[in-house]
Amino acid sequence: MATDQYDYVIVGSGTAGSVLAHRLSADPDVSVLVLEAGGNRIPPEVDDPSSWYKLLGGPVDWGYTSVPQPGLGGRRTYEPRGKAPGGSSNLYIMMHIRGHASDFDNWAYQGAAGWAYEDVLPYFALLEDQEDATAPTTGTGGPQRVTNAGRHGPNPVSRAFIEAAVELGHQEIADFNTDGPRRGLFGTGWHHIDVADGRRQGTLAAYLEPALARPNLTLRTSAQTTRLLFDGDTCTGVEYVQLRPPAEIPGRTVRDGHSTAAAPGLHTVRARREVIVAAGAIESPKLLLLSGIGHPEQLREHGIEVTAALPGVGENFHNHVLTGLMAEVTQELPAPAQNLSESALFLSSRPGLPAPDLQIAFVHVPFDVIVGRSHPNTVSILPGVVRPVSRGSVRLASADPLAHPLINPNYLGDRWDLERMVQGVKLAREIFATSAFSPWYKQELQPGPGAVTDEDLRTFVRQKAESYHHQAGSCRMGVDDLCVVDPELRVHGVRNLRVVDASVMPAVPSGNCHTAIAMIAERAADFLTGRNRGARRA
Ligand SMILES: Cc1cc2nc3c(=O)[nH]c(=O)nc-3n(C[C@H](O)[C@H](O)[C@H](O)COP(=O)(O)OP(=O)(O)OC[C@H]3O[C@@H](n4cnc5c(N)ncnc54)[C@H](O)[C@@H]3O)c2cc1C
Repeated sequence: MATDQYDYVIVGSGTAGSVLAHRLSADPDVSVLVLEAGGNRIPPEVDDPSSWYKLLGGPVDWGYTSVPQPGLGGRRTYEPRGKAPGGSSNLYIMMHIRGHASDFDNWAYQGAAGWAYEDVLPYFALLEDQEDATAPTTGTGGPQRVTNAGRHGPNPVSRAFIEAAVELGHQEIADFNTDGPRRGLFGTGWHHIDVADGRRQGTLAAYLEPALARPNLTLRTSAQTTRLLFDGDTCTGVEYVQLRPPAEIPGRTVRDGHSTAAAPGLHTVRARREVIVAAGAIESPKLLLLSGIGHPEQLREHGIEVTAALPGVGENFHNHVLTGLMAEVTQELPAPAQNLSESALFLSSRPGLPAPDLQIAFVHVPFDVIVGRSHPNTVSILPGVVRPVSRGSVRLASADPLAHPLINPNYLGDRWDLERMVQGVKLAREIFATSAFSPWYKQELQPGPGAVTDEDLRTFVRQKAESYHHQAGSCRMGVDDLCVVDPELRVHGVRNLRVVDASVMPAVPSGNCHTAIAMIAERAADFLTGRNRGARRA
């Protein structure tokens, strides 16, 4: 090993970890090590925006399964998470959604001072390089290239979806990320997507790879952190296991000029300044628990000594939830284009709600690959509850650091989430039934004509609801007793340790959350470097 001491040690090179690696290593006087559990090979499907679904269940996916979900009739759900440099940013469907202004105000109301919409807005702008100016606060010149799906030969059936939503009385808007009178999201329109020149622009391409040539940034892959190390209450470094790289994966190797590989086995590395855990909403709480930070009773169950009693670690875990309606269409569909999900509709389930709590996504391919084999000309409408009230947990299954934890999103645990899903299914049917959609509509394949009553639809939802892949909240920021990190993302009760990823969100924003996670990491970079780029641009 070249050295076992760095200024910063970042655990995880996913969405947040890549942003941090880029921003912290911009100072040549600071040394940064990033430890990534996944290997250094990137399959070609990562770069091709239309191929994301081929990555699911493959070698760059942790491939988690939830514990049985009572709200889904006891089913377990599949919970994909990226495992490679880029993390889940290699799997995501590239929809670029900031969230509704009230999402962030809500974080601040809950004690996360400094995270209100006005505070975070400049950080959204500075991370973006958007090709058009469809909203007044659009960012340009940032690392994240963003294009408008409507401007790049979208599938005509995606346009029919927008027209159908307009026919039902929804407003067509030019940008979901606008902050006009309704403060974002409400309406139908084209997605902005993290795709440029036909390639995925996740945080691997936007942030991590451009920084890897810097001599002060080291990426170590197949290196899974197993424990945080402490001297008293000060985090001094981490223990990690250098795994054998996974079997050869076709694709490219991350350009890692300054990477070093340790010999297989257990190693320690010291952080002179701080350790930053950016392992995602499932692995970050797991790592804290393995290191003795959590509910003392849970730690004792696994024979783990208490470093800091923080009963909120792993609690407040939640996710958006969706299901899929499929309709066979009358005409041969043009070949899949862009990210397959070009248009959407955001609305609230009842009048008077300040933000949308339903996202109706449209994909111009079959939601279910098995149905798609016999009915290739099939499109899907995916209603999702994006302000869920159900809360679950992430807990240790054992003290073995390589074991998967117990993942409980508690989907539809609260009846309101179920009823809103049913409402979304009905709305999707209304969209299929519009005259705007009629040139395309042939027949409904799922749930199908047999599902008629509300109880039929509840049964359908329980049988077919799935993860929306926006797991969050398991190391919540704030100041009450169940918070894990303070508003500057420092872990309560210890020193020199932060968590920076989806787990710190008190509540997941009302839409796809990749952009908000990148924003969190941008802000964290300022906390760490003492800069205030937000103030300058506000
Ligand atoms: C299929 C899919 C589609 C999605 N589509 C969208 C979308 O269109 N738009 C959107 O906004 N969001 C989308 N998302 C959600 C979004 O991708 C994630 O919320 C986001 O990438 C999570 O970022 P993160 O930094 O919290 O974690 P991750 O990006 O998951 O990063 C965690 C990293 O840490 C590594 N790691 C974990 N444990 C350890 C350890 N012990 N030691 C070392 N390394 C470790 C992991 O391998 C990973 O690289 C999608 C997600 C999926 C899976």
